[in-house]
Amino acid sequence: MNVQETDFRKTTAEKTSQPFVVDRSTFADRTAAVAAAAAGEAEDVDRHARFPQKAIDAARRHRLLGVQIPQEFGGDGASIFDITDMCYALGRACSSTAMIFAMHQTKVACLIRHGSGSRYHEALMRRVASEQMLLASSTTEGQNGGNIRFSTAAVEHTGSEISLVRNATVISYGAQADGIVTIARRANDAAGSDQVLLAITKDDYTLERSLEWETLGMRGTCSAGFELKFKGSSEQIFPEGYDKIHAQTMTPVAHLCWSSAWAGIAAAAVERAQLFIRKAARGAGGQLPPGVAHFTAAKMTLAKLRAVITATLDTYAAHEHDERALSSLDFQSSINLLKVEASELAVATVMSAMRACGLSGYRNDGDFSVGRLLRDVLSAPIMINNERILANISTASLMSTVPACLRD
Ligand SMILES: Cc1cc2nc3c(=O)[nH]c(=O)nc-3n(C[C@H](O)[C@H](O)[C@H](O)COP(=O)(O)OP(=O)(O)OC[C@H]3O[C@@H](n4cnc5c(N)ncnc54)[C@H](O)[C@@H]3O)c2cc1C
Repeated sequence: MNVQETDFRKTTAEKTSQPFVVDRSTFADRTAAVAAAAAGEAEDVDRHARFPQKAIDAARRHRLLGVQIPQEFGGDGASIFDITDMCYALGRACSSTAMIFAMHQTKVACLIRHGSGSRYHEALMRRVASEQMLLASSTTEGQNGGNIRFSTAAVEHTGSEISLVRNATVISYGAQADGIVTIARRANDAAGSDQVLLAITKDDYTLERSLEWETLGMRGTCSAGFELKFKGSSEQIFPEGYDKIHAQTMTPVAHLCWSSAWAGIAAAAVERAQLFIRKAARGAGGQLPPGVAHFTAAKMTLAKLRAVITATLDTYAAHEHDERALSSLDFQSSINLLKVEASELAVATVMSAMRACGLSGYRNDGDFSVGRLLRDVLSAPIMINNERILANISTASLMSTVPACLRD
């Protein structure tokens, strides 16, 4: 990718007719600095299930939390390519940091794509860039699991004032976030699927812990249950309905960013396996250890994982501002299948890497331990259950035609 690349953001182009020039030259160094901070505390974060404070402080110092915000609102105008590269780099260092970053950037993408033209949301964009605010996500509610297109809690309207009380079963880093982007039923008399998206900041909500878990992996995301109570202004509701935001931004950006973070975890495991195989071979006069076939398998699934992410990334970027293309059955199927495929490939890669390392990978200590990476990556297929996604898209898959050629 070019260091200097012209970014024709729709909002910017509309307002000025002049494209901004995005300077990407600092992105790699800034990300590397945050990744170094994340790697330095990854083990401790996992052991104590604590928030990766040093990594997020570094992200603030290097202004990565606002990097996606358009320049006219004080950010760097980073593209989806830049953001997913950052998720991958952070995933190689600390899974929880990468997932926190991925979730935050998904919320920021919604703000940019669907908040332009709204006074409140534009002001919030400026705040994210200037204050480096960290945004969390609240979609899971009660016993409803990952059924994001249905909400129970409704927005209560009193003139221009609104309020919301939500049984938020899981909010990752809820206690540490500066704001939350949440879904809700439009009003008391609205159907569960008639949803709105709200951006709220910590001065207008309270969180009371309702559920603590002792999790297997991704322990630094500090994912706990809360009762969310919010009072604010109706301006905080995004102007567009959630159905549009979900299809055009929330799902595509979440799936691309999550998959990139999982690919980073998989890459870290492959790197460990490579170091182990080389060391073992050196110690045995050049003879490769028996697990080497698993190392090749790990490299193969990592290559597939990267290919599926980058292909979907290209499709998304090509149609980023084309509502019809993003709403098409083909795109919606492929963006949902990306999550399923990427999560399965990431687990397979880390599993192969562990088997390549044998006992050295299985033990929890030592340079070649793959245990933490395996526990972390096992969250991928259940972070919205893959079976739920497959069931949801089965009708759409039946309706779309089988491709007639290799390239569309
Ligand atoms: C690492 C990680 C971070 C996450 N972070 C967030 C976040 O920041 N914000 C957020 O909103 N969500 C978060 N989630 C939750 C995620 O978005 C999904 O809601 C969650 O993975 C559940 O998906 P599922 O409903 O498809 O699957 P399942 O958990 O398999 O649930 C399927 C169904 O089983 C039923 N069920 C489940 N548990 C019970 C129970 N105890 N009693 C009765 N019935 C039950 C429910 O009907 C549910 O719909 C996170 C998940 C993970 C793994």
